[in-house]
Amino acid sequence: MAQQDDLFKNLVSHSKEYGFVFPSSEIYDGLGAVYDYGPNGVELKNNIKLYWWKSMVQMHENIVGLDTAIFMHPKTWKASGHVDAFNDPLIDNKDSKKRYRADVLVEEHIEKINQKILKDVEKAAAKFGEAFNEAEFRSTNPNVLRRQEEINKIEARMKACLENEDLADFKLMIEELGIADPLSGSKNWTDVRQFNLMFNTQLGNIAGEEGKLYLRPETAQGIFVNFLNVLNTSRQRIPFGIAQIGKAFRNEIVARQFIFRMREFEQMEMQFFIRPGEQAKWYEYWKETRAKWHKNLGFGEEKYRFHDHLKTAHYADAAADIEFEFPFGFKELEGIHSRTDFDLSQHQDLSGKKLQYFDPELNESYVPFVVETSVGLDRMFLATLSACYKEEDLGDGNSRVVLSLPPVLAPVKVAIFPLTKKDGLPDKAREIFNRLRLDLNCQYEEKDNIGKRYRRQDAIGTPYCITVDHQTLEDNTVTIRERDSMAQERVSVERVIELALEKCSWSKVLK
Ligand code: ATP
Repeated sequence: MAQQDDLFKNLVSHSKEYGFVFPSSEIYDGLGAVYDYGPNGVELKNNIKLYWWKSMVQMHENIVGLDTAIFMHPKTWKASGHVDAFNDPLIDNKDSKKRYRADVLVEEHIEKINQKILKDVEKAAAKFGEAFNEAEFRSTNPNVLRRQEEINKIEARMKACLENEDLADFKLMIEELGIADPLSGSKNWTDVRQFNLMFNTQLGNIAGEEGKLYLRPETAQGIFVNFLNVLNTSRQRIPFGIAQIGKAFRNEIVARQFIFRMREFEQMEMQFFIRPGEQAKWYEYWKETRAKWHKNLGFGEEKYRFHDHLKTAHYADAAADIEFEFPFGFKELEGIHSRTDFDLSQHQDLSGKKLQYFDPELNESYVPFVVETSVGLDRMFLATLSACYKEEDLGDGNSRVVLSLPPVLAPVKVAIFPLTKKDGLPDKAREIFNRLRLDLNCQYEEKDNIGKRYRRQDAIGTPYCITVDHQTLEDNTVTIRERDSMAQERVSVERVIELALEKCSWSKVLK
C-alpha cells in the first residue's frame, strides 16, 4: 500500500512538473479542491472530451449534443429536488477538527473487511492452485461467510439510516463499528448532520430568495428543461438521447485526493429518453455500452467493476457506478442512473408546461422515462493518468517515467527532432513537422541530446518521435521511435507520415 501511496504522490508531482495540473491560484497557496489544467493537461482533457463526444454523439444517430448555461432559473433546482435533497451526511471529529462524510467513513470500513476477504481468497487460491474454485470457497469458507455477513449487516443498517434520515443511528453505528478519524485516530465524533452541496449566489437586480441563483451541481437539468426545444428542432424520435459536456459545482465536504473530488469540475452526461416501462432494458444496455467505452482504451479489464447503489438518489429507480481502480482503491468513475420520469414530471408540474412526447406507434402521449450516463471528465483524466503513469527501470542504472497514453489521448502525437542544429537538418525536420501538424498535434524540438528529448516526450506520453539525421539528406529516410517499446525503425519520409496518421487515427478506438 505504501508503494501505491508513493506512486500517487509521484503522479501528482509529475502532473505539475509536466504542465498537466496545477493547484488553482497557487501563488496564494491554492484553493481547496480547485485545480487548473496546464498546457499538456488541457490537450489531454480536450482529447478525452473528444473521445466521449465522438463515441456518444457522432457515432450514435439517435443522440444529439447541447451546451446549456451554468445559471438556470432557481425553480429548476426546486423541481429537481436538489434544494431539498442534495445533501451529504457529515460528521466532524472533535479532536482533529476534520470534517468527513459519514457514509464514506462507513464505506471505507466496509472496504477494509472486503480486503480481508480478498486476502483469504488469494491465500486459498495460492494453496489449491489449479483446483481452486473461488465461488465455492466464498460460499463455504466460515471466515469469508462471517465477514460477508458483517458487510451485509452494515450495508443494510446504513441504507436504513439514509432512507429514514435516522442520523442518530448513523452516529451510533460509527461508534459501534469503532471507526476512527483516518488522520488522527480519534473516535471523538460530533452528531451526524445533513449538508446541502449547492453553491449559491445572488442576481444583481432582485433581492431576497427570488434572486437566489445556484451554480449547477449537475449538467443534466439543462438537458431536461430543453427537452421540448430539442424534440421540436431535431428530427429525433424516442428512443433518443441528448448529451452535453460542461462545468458543475459542488460544495464537497471532503476535498482530498487531488482531482478525484473537486468543488468545480466537468461532467459528460447523456440523458436517454425512452418509453415508460422500457427502463430495465435500456439501463442494462447503457451499463454495458459505457463499460465497453472505458475498456476500449486498453487500461485493462481488471481495472473496472460495477457497484450497484445501496440507496438510489431521490430521482432514480436503479443506479450503478462503474468503478475504476485508482491508486487509492476502487472508486466511482461513472454513474448509470435509471431516472424514471422524475425530472420531466417535476419540471412539468412546476413550470406548468407539458413535457410530453406523442408516440405515433402507441398513439398516445406520455412523459418519457430517462436512463442517464454521467462520467466526470476530471475523474476520467485521473483514471487515465493513473493507468498510464509508469516508472520504469531500464537497467544499467537508467530509469524513465513514461505515460503510456493511447495515441488518440496523448497531448502531443508526434515529436520531430533534427539530430543536430546544423547541416540543414532543422529545415528537413520542420518540413515533416509542418506537414504532420495539419492533422496531428506535433512538437518540434532541437534542444538537448536525443536521449533527453526522448525522456521529455516519454514523460508527457508522446507515442512517436521522428528523428532526421544526415542519412535523411541522402535517402529521404528517418527513424521513428515508438514510446512503449522504445523500438526504432528506419522508414521513408512518405511512409513515416502515413504511419503517424494511421497510428493516431480515431477509427481504432471508435470501432
Ligand atoms: P460521489 O459519490 O463520488 O460523490 P456522485 O455519486 O455524487 O459521486 P454523480 O452525481 O453520480 O456523482 O455524478 C456523476 C459523475 O460526476 C461521477 O461519477 C463523477 O465522475 C463526477 N463527479 C461527481 N462529483 C464530483 C466531484 N466533486 N469532483 C469530480 N468529479 C465528480
